[in-house]
Amino acid sequence: MLKIKTEKMMGSELQPGNLFSTAGPEHWDTAGQNGSVGEKVYIFTGNYPVEDSEIYRIVIGVDYEATEKSPEIDALLTTITGKDRVETIQANKCTTCGATDLKFKDALSTKEYTISGMCQECQDKVFADPNG
Ligand SMILES: [Zn+2]
Repeated sequence: MLKIKTEKMMGSELQPGNLFSTAGPEHWDTAGQNGSVGEKVYIFTGNYPVEDSEIYRIVIGVDYEATEKSPEIDALLTTITGKDRVETIQANKCTTCGATDLKFKDALSTKEYTISGMCQECQDKVFADPNG
């Protein structure tokens, strides 16, 4: 599942190539449930006159669902890492290094992310084969 997130900003803050919309989160929370989200999304080319308008930058992420752990375990993990595991996974961030550009090499690594919240790089470090 893909998840559409919005960031409110001024048009002058857009970088060429950014996706943006004039529709806010209330639109995107329900859009796309029937397959397509193409309407109302624009690609900023660098010269469209939106500098003085408030717009929503569109960020498309993956809707990772954190596995359920007992509240006690999640509280303990929050104490250890300083981050809320479920919130961090929903925000598509790494609980260990804070990376936001998440890519996983296989389904097992993606599954591991929903358990630990660790990005591929952090997983590779933690689960490295000591003999390899
Ligand atoms: Zn990481």
